[in-house]
Amino acid sequence: MNISIFGLGYVGCVSLGCLAKNGHKVVGVDINDTKVGMINCGIATIVEKDIDLIIKEEFENNSISATTSANKAVLETELSIICVGTPSSPQGHLNLSYIYKTAEQIGEALKNKIDFHTVVIRSTVLPGTNKKIGEIIAQFSGKKRGEGFSVVSNPEFLREGTAVKDYYNPAITVIGGDHEVALSKVSSLYDELEAPIEITDIEVAEMIKYVNNSFHALKITFANEVGNIAKSMGIDSHKVMELFCKDTHLNISPAYFKPGFAYGGSCLPKDLKGLVTLGHDQYVATPVLSGVHESNEHQKRLAFELIARTGKKKICFIGLSFKEGTDDLRYSPSVDLAEKLIGKGYQLTIHDENVHLSKLIGENRSFIDEHMPHLSELIEEDPKKAIEDSEIVLINHRNFDATRYLDILKEKPCLIDLVRIPELEELPNYEGLCW
Ligand code: NAD
Repeated sequence: MNISIFGLGYVGCVSLGCLAKNGHKVVGVDINDTKVGMINCGIATIVEKDIDLIIKEEFENNSISATTSANKAVLETELSIICVGTPSSPQGHLNLSYIYKTAEQIGEALKNKIDFHTVVIRSTVLPGTNKKIGEIIAQFSGKKRGEGFSVVSNPEFLREGTAVKDYYNPAITVIGGDHEVALSKVSSLYDELEAPIEITDIEVAEMIKYVNNSFHALKITFANEVGNIAKSMGIDSHKVMELFCKDTHLNISPAYFKPGFAYGGSCLPKDLKGLVTLGHDQYVATPVLSGVHESNEHQKRLAFELIARTGKKKICFIGLSFKEGTDDLRYSPSVDLAEKLIGKGYQLTIHDENVHLSKLIGENRSFIDEHMPHLSELIEEDPKKAIEDSEIVLINHRNFDATRYLDILKEKPCLIDLVRIPELEELPNYEGLCW
């Protein structure tokens, strides 16, 4: 199929590469010239396992390209997938301006198109957005929904850090729509995947991702609170959670149930806030969901207090992105912690291999250089050097290969682990956050 993808960020870049790898010809559209230029040189726009190779190969196969022209992309393709950002507004509502702008551009392009066009919403949007997007496209194209075009909701479930693997192995594919041909076209995109395809009402498909992400956030904060109590009593919190997940009556996956640091990233905080705000707008009380955010903030305070108690000031800060395996710094709890420490007079040297890589690829136009220059200047490529220069070593990422540095780590006055690296636990200077 000839497919256009709007938005070449974390979701769009992965969809572009993976759909092309599955045999489709895909054109990416973005308002950001740099991202368009990167795809047109065969370079992935994000740092994420395996995607760099896929983008390079598919570029060489001539199956991907990118443009800033929405018109050109829509005219060349039969299906457009919207993957633009839906960030939070300051009040907690979604900022849908990017998605509405995309709908206007698609509608404008459809004016000049005779063939039927399928529009797929892959971005995370609250119920009612599909209908609104249909209205905008109808207004700008002068065509009727269901005749000239259709809008299908198909939420993305990938997780940064394992995005390519998740793309090919989703637990479920959810598709909501009101047009048979469009629904079967979208379903056919996932023919190669083993996951069951659930065709459902549009509003159900729109709401599911919010429920998923809110539950992930709830799981993390639940495990962290259990961990905080367990630590206060010298109990192994990870063992408690491991056994908890073995209760077959619960039938619950252990994912996200590892006591540790706060959650973050561009999805969980935003989507939880979106659902709570939706409840508020509907005059529906959400005491449990509303408490999740406060519990998460509390976990950040506990990490800070643990560091403050050491009385030391020079910190080797390992892991700045919101989790290992990604360069994504949006709503990273590690960024919050780093900024609080700097504000309180601590001296930080930050090591994060993916953030460092994004600085190299972005040539001073990376996210950290643009939005966090005060942290960018603290990045140290060499972890050994960062450790040597510090009094406290603070570990925020699970994939940090601590075994390579055990000799120097054990000499440090304090070693604080927010994620539980088993190889470090026997060291005399070790302190875990909640185990
Ligand atoms: P992102 O910010 O990384 O990328 C969005 C891209 O859209 C940017 O490159 C931006 O320049 C581009 N854009 C904005 N307006 C545009 C327009 N009019 N035309 C073309 N491009 C435009 O966002 P993301 O993390 O990829 O998330 C995209 C959506 O997918 C969000 O709704 C998010 O909630 C959802 N989602 C994200 C993830 C994730 O792990 N990041 C997972 C599942 C779902």
